[in-house]
Amino acid sequence: MLLGRNTKNPIVMVDKKITEWTYSTCGYCSVGCSIEIGKNAEGKIVGSRGVGGADVNRGKLCVKGIFEHELFDSAGRGDKPIIREQIGEAYRETSWDDALDTMADKIRDIQQKHGRDSFAIVSTGQLLTEEFYTLGKLTRGVIGTNNYDGNTTLCMASAVSGYKRSFGSDGPPGSYEDFDHTDVLMAWGSNLPEQHPIIYWRMKEAQEKRHFPLIVVDPRVTMLAQNADIHLAVTPGTDVVLQNAIMHVILDEGLEDRAYIEANTVGLEQLESEVAKFDPDSASKVCGIDPDTIRNVARIYAKADAAMSIWTMGINQSTHGSDGVVGINNINLLTGNIGKPGGTSLSITGQCNAMGTREWSSCSGLPGYRALENPQDREDIAKYWNVDPEFFPKKRGLAETDIFPAIELGEIKGLWLVATNPMTSLPNTARIRKTLEKLDFLVVQDSYADVETVQYAHLYLPAATWAEKEGVFTNTERRVNIVRKATDAPGESKSDLAIFNALAQRFEQSAKMNFPDKPAAVFEEMKSLSKGRLLDISGMSHDLIEEKRGIQWPYTAEEAERGEEPLQGGKRLYTENGTFSFADGMAKLVPLPFIDNNEVPDEKYPYWLNTGRLVEHFHTRTKTGKIGNNNKYSPIPFMEINPDAARELGIQHQDYVRCVSRRGDAIVMAMCTQRVPKDMVFIPFHFFDCVNRLTLGLLDPHSRQPAYKQSAVMIEPIADQQAAAQMSRERRAF
Ligand code: SF4
Repeated sequence: MLLGRNTKNPIVMVDKKITEWTYSTCGYCSVGCSIEIGKNAEGKIVGSRGVGGADVNRGKLCVKGIFEHELFDSAGRGDKPIIREQIGEAYRETSWDDALDTMADKIRDIQQKHGRDSFAIVSTGQLLTEEFYTLGKLTRGVIGTNNYDGNTTLCMASAVSGYKRSFGSDGPPGSYEDFDHTDVLMAWGSNLPEQHPIIYWRMKEAQEKRHFPLIVVDPRVTMLAQNADIHLAVTPGTDVVLQNAIMHVILDEGLEDRAYIEANTVGLEQLESEVAKFDPDSASKVCGIDPDTIRNVARIYAKADAAMSIWTMGINQSTHGSDGVVGINNINLLTGNIGKPGGTSLSITGQCNAMGTREWSSCSGLPGYRALENPQDREDIAKYWNVDPEFFPKKRGLAETDIFPAIELGEIKGLWLVATNPMTSLPNTARIRKTLEKLDFLVVQDSYADVETVQYAHLYLPAATWAEKEGVFTNTERRVNIVRKATDAPGESKSDLAIFNALAQRFEQSAKMNFPDKPAAVFEEMKSLSKGRLLDISGMSHDLIEEKRGIQWPYTAEEAERGEEPLQGGKRLYTENGTFSFADGMAKLVPLPFIDNNEVPDEKYPYWLNTGRLVEHFHTRTKTGKIGNNNKYSPIPFMEINPDAARELGIQHQDYVRCVSRRGDAIVMAMCTQRVPKDMVFIPFHFFDCVNRLTLGLLDPHSRQPAYKQSAVMIEPIADQQAAAQMSRERRAF
């Protein structure tokens, strides 16, 4: 019998008998979808659903959000603090008092012996903003180490650096709504359907209505590139050359917006003289895009009434990451495409609250986009926190990627990792393993006790996750949205806020300071410190945020008092001429000379290694690796390889192969696909003891972000496939 619409079994939606829904915001990516978490009459969390009235996702969720409720009872959660004297010994359970007393003693001891900066702290983009703010207060105002950073250095530091160099401040100037107004969209190293599925849906819906051209710059034929009108398969690491060539054409053909440039920018002459060197014919030989296509793209972009660019890790994770962001900003400034509907430079952020940590964690400065280098900023925060301003360092300390080399050198003796997993996420796993083993004291604070880095720790602190606590996230388009508590954390786990506050109490310095224990009270401090600043949130409250399903900043107390809807002001930044965040109000056109300094393929290592994400997994799989439906889609590490390359190497589709770089090797399953060119392979970055055994991760000089996407490898077939499968399993088993 033929199966068809009338004979197939209908899909049956199981009634989960949900009696109560709790409003929240998705805890995975930076899209910031509003989500409701469903509980049945027995009080068990059994479902998730998108929120229809929320502007961001309008009822939709991606495959991660749909199953997000399953993480509350997923395997591997920690429920008690555990401690040991030495790495290699068995852990023993301990009380919170003992754990935090020990931690405070160790911090004091290390700092007394080796100096304040010899104890380092690395956090995440996963905490609630109130927690980030409190961790910043504890670190900057109490512990006093300057070696404090977030793992956002691995994903967004180049965007932050580029925004600061071009506009004078961090803060993405656009909104998702810009898709509804733009006349051309250029996506640089951004694979929306897999990385940010709901933004992709917003973009696609807008494109289907208005048919604007989509130009995708990516060395790989990603899902987004498959949908592009023009796909520019740029040579890895050469985006800046392509950008300079585009600007060359714009200026050469007089396509720039002179009135906008004069009213809003400085530096045109210097930029002109640099891009003059990048005629499309010469640039083509470096970036791999033919000269006529470069000219065509430059004309399409510059002639559009409104043009917008988005980017993700393809730009950020490069030795030219910050320059690549500045290059995008340069093009938009030259063409008058900042601060107007459909005209913007919108970095698509990574983690759910990467923006919150950028705004409020004090990692790279002081809260509310304040700088350690600015005496007034130090004075203001010191006064507010009741700390001596001289206690603050006068410039930023080490970034995460410089903290690990400082451990190797013996300059850093103690480390506190908060919701981050460098054993899987940092380049060159073998080196990181040795580095962690050198520490006198390592604390891992995480929701999961089986996170790989716990193997190298002396103390593990179990933390609540996502909707086991309350507070706000900020998403890619500056929208502050709330996570409400839906359930309790397992066992004795505490919220990160409670852990920070309890640790603060163990230092004398905190006695004269205020560490509120309620997230809403912390939010009031942040509101107060935001007044009059670019990221003004003083008109918001937790309840109003929930009522509006998220509010974009700025939304000021004055706007709230006047009864203005919290929807208009926050849509775009820099809408008026001369309002950029530099003292003169002018944006900077920054010349970008190019030096090719990456590891490139050669005779011995003939393939580019490209890395990236899959839609079903999040970061190091700490969460999605435990959730059946997410893990089932991609349970094992694999490598995309071009069929012609595979044939020459004697590799069959789905063979296990060894991928080898100068750092190490990885066993992966070969997937033959035309998505990658013949001289490139692609491996997802989510798996432990896999792609980061291979990556080099040279650092961007401005942002200190690693170049994960430009390494050279060779591929070796493996004769004994059963042994290879076993080795692959063993490496992943922890
Ligand atoms: Fe969550 Fe991002 Fe998926 Fe939205 S797109 S449901 S925020 S993971």
